[in-house]
Amino acid sequence: MKNLFPLQTGSKIKITVRSRLIGADTFTVIAGPCTIENYEDLLEIALELKKRNICFLRGGAYKLRTSPYSFPGLGITGLEILKRVCAETGLISVSEITSAEDVSLFSDLVDIIQIGTRNMHNYRLLEKLGDISNPVILKRGLSSTIEEWLYAAEHILKAGNPNVILCERGIRTFETYTRNTLDISAIPAVRNLSNLPVIIDPSHSSGRRELIRPLSWAAAAAGADGIIMETHFRPDKVICDSEQTIDLTTFDQIYSGFPELIALWQKHIQE
Ligand code: PEP
Ligand code: MN
Repeated sequence: MKNLFPLQTGSKIKITVRSRLIGADTFTVIAGPCTIENYEDLLEIALELKKRNICFLRGGAYKLRTSPYSFPGLGITGLEILKRVCAETGLISVSEITSAEDVSLFSDLVDIIQIGTRNMHNYRLLEKLGDISNPVILKRGLSSTIEEWLYAAEHILKAGNPNVILCERGIRTFETYTRNTLDISAIPAVRNLSNLPVIIDPSHSSGRRELIRPLSWAAAAAGADGIIMETHFRPDKVICDSEQTIDLTTFDQIYSGFPELIALWQKHIQE
């Protein structure tokens, strides 16, 4: 059969960012707020994560909101807050880029650059990421097939950046109870088709905090290389995506279940 994704062949790749590994035999946990609101809150979240040995902090600064009246994020001020908090805590930052014009800015201020679901098809933006070497989390487009998603990854790889992490964040279906539908089958499918790490976003896929634990655990048992979860010490008070943001107690419950599930998966692949 013709190889559709020539740059995604061979053994599973490992991505190194500030001496931390993503992919291969690691399970990466990324947590933090949907949106950066201010320095004090982000620092508090970062310190709580650090206490738990979490190394990756997410936080949006440029938010693509469905309504033009919703909070759009703090922009560059938000990125500067993220940079400062990560410098002070040693955490590794993750934030979403929304425009090709911002690539060099992001490359300086952010460790891992996220492409959100709405930009998966923005090929000029994807190609521009070939100019830098920061790892890129490429979210699956909300109505994209697995093939389209892997082609989008191929655009970044072909442009010269080999550090791509795929992120399944739910696809749009007829179901309205959940915000989107988490496609668990994408994990084993992508593992067969690509050598890139694949992580899961249970927050944007479900839109419901009570579903984050079972979805995260299902993803870990299905062979995901990691998880990105919206987490806050006071989720009811956040400006953006409160309903899907978990508190630290829930985070601890979820996190404590991972070793057993990952071990189950590891055992399964060795058989
Ligand atoms: C996000 O992670 O902040 C986000 C907006 O995600 P998505 O692009 O998957 O909706
Ligand atoms: Mn969000």
